[in-house]
Amino acid sequence: MNKTWNESVRGSLKNANDCNDYFDNDRFQDGSFPIKVPIEFAKRIDKSNPLDPLLLQILPEEAQSTKGFIDSPVYDEEFSPVKGLIHKYPTRVLLISSSVCAIHCQYCFRQNFDYDDNDFLNNWADIENYLSKRTEINEAILSGGDPLTLSDKKISKILEKIESIRHIKTLRIHTRTAVVIPSRITEELIATLNQTKLKVVIVFHINHAQEVSDEFVNNIKPLRNLTLLNQSVFLKDVNDDAKALAELSYKLFEASILPYYIHLLDKVTGAERFLISDNQANKIYTTLQNIVPGYLLPKLVRDEGGESKRLVI
Ligand code: SF4
Repeated sequence: MNKTWNESVRGSLKNANDCNDYFDNDRFQDGSFPIKVPIEFAKRIDKSNPLDPLLLQILPEEAQSTKGFIDSPVYDEEFSPVKGLIHKYPTRVLLISSSVCAIHCQYCFRQNFDYDDNDFLNNWADIENYLSKRTEINEAILSGGDPLTLSDKKISKILEKIESIRHIKTLRIHTRTAVVIPSRITEELIATLNQTKLKVVIVFHINHAQEVSDEFVNNIKPLRNLTLLNQSVFLKDVNDDAKALAELSYKLFEASILPYYIHLLDKVTGAERFLISDNQANKIYTTLQNIVPGYLLPKLVRDEGGESKRLVI
């Protein structure tokens, strides 16, 4: 019998011992950002390749103390007028809907975020008050953590709350869970997303074509009537190659997902080894421009905290 997504979450590799046993090596060490790897993602890693692009994303390395790398590189806290809500752009707000992720990406910009007291449902009265007074806000973004680590019932409840703010027309969901545990796309979730009166945009987080399984492509088919986008992080030794990025773009397109953003690394402490220089990123991006058509070219951006994301090229 197939595992449910909850069983997949519970059965994840959760520490260095689990990983060293699974991958039959001794490269994993527990660090400040705990290891978490669903078996579905681990299975997509080539155990014989020490430089596998998926393996490198989950392999912790000792944090260095490097100038410019800080605990909160996008300054979320400075843009949180109410607990559980981040308001950086005039027309949209980000709601912290979960403190949990299905996988721990070792370059995560929010790995030091203080999730305590920041669950938006626990702060709904204040958030509702804040949103009601600002009719220019037309989009709510569910982020975290990862909103798809919540139960279908909770997601349904969240949608009801957002629908009750009449000037919010669009719901955006940022998720990596769907690709690392494809069984997360349940029938109940599909029904909820297809029935809401909100316009739904799902932004997946996929960095490499190797992450995209047949199961994922198949399971998201009933969501094709929604807007499906992808954002990646530009990561040294993972996807710093125009051909690899082009392959990802084409694979996404086959799944009816359009490449949206490729983010330069947010300089969070511990992620130093993933940094690509601006110069190198521009070179790779220019080559990518010559390979893929414009509609398969993600925008190269840097999040500088506040104001709009800055286009780099
Ligand atoms: S899924 Fe996103 S929020 Fe979660 S660890 Fe990875 S990068 Fe961070």
